[in-house]
Amino acid sequence: MKNLTPALALLAALACQQPTLAPAAETIDGFTNTPFEADGKWHVHDPARPQPVVVTPGATFSQGAPAPSDAEILFNGTGLDKWVNARGTPANWHTNEDYVETAPSGGGIRTIGKWADFQLHVEWASPNPPHGTSQGRGNSGILINDMYEVQVLDSYQAKTYADGQAGAIYGQSPPLVNACKPPGEWQTYDILFESPRWNAQGELVKKAVITVLQNGVVIQNHYELAGMTDGINAALPWKSLSHYPAPHAPEVFIELQDHKNPVRFRNIWIRSLHLGSNL
Ligand code: MG
Repeated sequence: MKNLTPALALLAALACQQPTLAPAAETIDGFTNTPFEADGKWHVHDPARPQPVVVTPGATFSQGAPAPSDAEILFNGTGLDKWVNARGTPANWHTNEDYVETAPSGGGIRTIGKWADFQLHVEWASPNPPHGTSQGRGNSGILINDMYEVQVLDSYQAKTYADGQAGAIYGQSPPLVNACKPPGEWQTYDILFESPRWNAQGELVKKAVITVLQNGVVIQNHYELAGMTDGINAALPWKSLSHYPAPHAPEVFIELQDHKNPVRFRNIWIRSLHLGSNL
């Protein structure tokens, strides 16, 4: 540094200093090159969409709830005779004790039965110890008619884009709060679903409506779906803006998603809401 003026020497000294690093901001997976949701505020799977407030649920609520007399028991630990895989052949997931576990990459399993409007009880547990991050951490889902997904994910102290976390209507509606239990603990979903309706001209006259309680906490409150879930099947590619499919019958099946992560399910039952056919 010889022959430098004092001012230049000061600048040279400053240039050699290590920069002061600000604390690293938490990175949340997501996308901003996707279409805007209908509200015009957030992209589909927007990482900036606010994370739901964390609520610690009560200890049990409906965990272990016996089925009401008019419910159909879909799984109580004794077999998968009410289920098939997507190709219609016998369900191939593994049962153990009182639960059934995804067979990663084996495809989802879906009910043989169908219901127009229903109350569904299901319990699930993500792996403990947990594996992966974001959408790769205990991902499964409650798929309705292979069109509408209530996300199953390990979102306990684990973040992903808000419209993809546990209890989200995937790609549309984040849960109102984050009521997740730790990985490995049994959690409940109590889901009320009303199927969409079309008139004889094929016009949508009633959107699908869903209410979801997770561990006894309301996380979706009579939410009107914007349409299908992106990425469930080829009809709506991943990261696309939701829209309704071609008209389908109100009677729909339930599918447990295989998202290549091991997730356990138990005590699954369903009952009709008896809303009638004139909705
Ligand atoms: Mg899923």
